[in-house]
Amino acid sequence: MKQNEIMKQNEIYWAAGFFEGEGHVGQYAESFQASISQVDLESLVRFQKAVEDMGQIYGPYSYEKRVDGYTRKPIYTWKIYKLDEIKNLFSIIGNNLSERRKKQFQKPLNYKPKHNKFKTHCKRGHEFKPSNTYIRKDGGRECRTCRKNRRNVKAS
Ligand SMILES: [Zn+2]
Repeated sequence: MKQNEIMKQNEIYWAAGFFEGEGHVGQYAESFQASISQVDLESLVRFQKAVEDMGQIYGPYSYEKRVDGYTRKPIYTWKIYKLDEIKNLFSIIGNNLSERRKKQFQKPLNYKPKHNKFKTHCKRGHEFKPSNTYIRKDGGRECRTCRKNRRNVKAS
């Protein structure tokens, strides 16, 4: 192995250990997310680099000063929420995670979206041709005609 490949591999081991200790995989309704919250921004930047620059770092979020006078340091959160990214994250660090952590990835990895990609018409019978198809952030499709009708109902 070349020197830079060894270094890259080391970073992946480090990232797996970091996610093992600090990471979180969760489900919110129909979508999933993997995240790490940290006071140490540098570690999150290093992690992001190790996992092919996926995701985004949010923050800093600070807390109100607590009654006991103890102030918590502001935190940063690294986050991904697309299924493809979660799958990719698992393909990078999954082998080096504990069984408990691996298990948390099973739900997103085995997830089958409810919407049928091969349906040609919406439930009200409008055709899913490109000009009538709206692609949501989560990859699901919606009928533009129905969306428009919904908006008109709200406006009136
Ligand atoms: Zn429709």
